[in-house]
Amino acid sequence: MRTIARLRDFVQQMTRLVEQHGANEPRMLEEGERCLRALIAHDDWLPEAFAQPSPASYRQYLLYCDPLERFSVVSFVWLPGQRTPIHDHTVWGLVGVMRGEEQCDEYADPGRAAGPLRPTGTHRVRPGEVDRVSPRIGDVHVVSNAGQDGPAVSIHVYGANIGAVRRHTFDAESGAAREFISGYHNATVPNLWDRSAESAA
Ligand code: FE
Repeated sequence: MRTIARLRDFVQQMTRLVEQHGANEPRMLEEGERCLRALIAHDDWLPEAFAQPSPASYRQYLLYCDPLERFSVVSFVWLPGQRTPIHDHTVWGLVGVMRGEEQCDEYADPGRAAGPLRPTGTHRVRPGEVDRVSPRIGDVHVVSNAGQDGPAVSIHVYGANIGAVRRHTFDAESGAAREFISGYHNATVPNLWDRSAESAA
């Protein structure tokens, strides 16, 4: 099944999940992770246009946004050496690595405190694995491509239209926060709804 059907199935599962448990973050993370693990278990569905790296910086491509903006699905692509700034999310999020290997460096949320950010841990996320974030469980981190060999690609799900959320980047030394709205690098999204190839098969 090398088709967009896997992503469509995932979107349908997440839609049912937010309908039923959207207000229950622990449940969203638990059941969303199960669905995301199933999606990233097969690296055969992501259209090439949404896996393109850029020497300019890591890329984030919107794959789907819920019509009521209760969740969004995004592909992230890092070349070796590329990394995000230190940032928060303000909503729950799941990070599933599909290609390559990523490193996640975590920090304590500085809140209103001034001074250097306090690192709380570093870990690798390997293909098929899923990492979690949210203000409740730890929301400030840096994600980078941990490998040398080629692009790392991960599929993320967030509890909002993440590219439109007003959030923050942080300076590690001073702890100073800056507002940012990430946006997306693409102007069009994958077509989930053309079933003709599957119907013909
Ligand atoms: Fe993040």
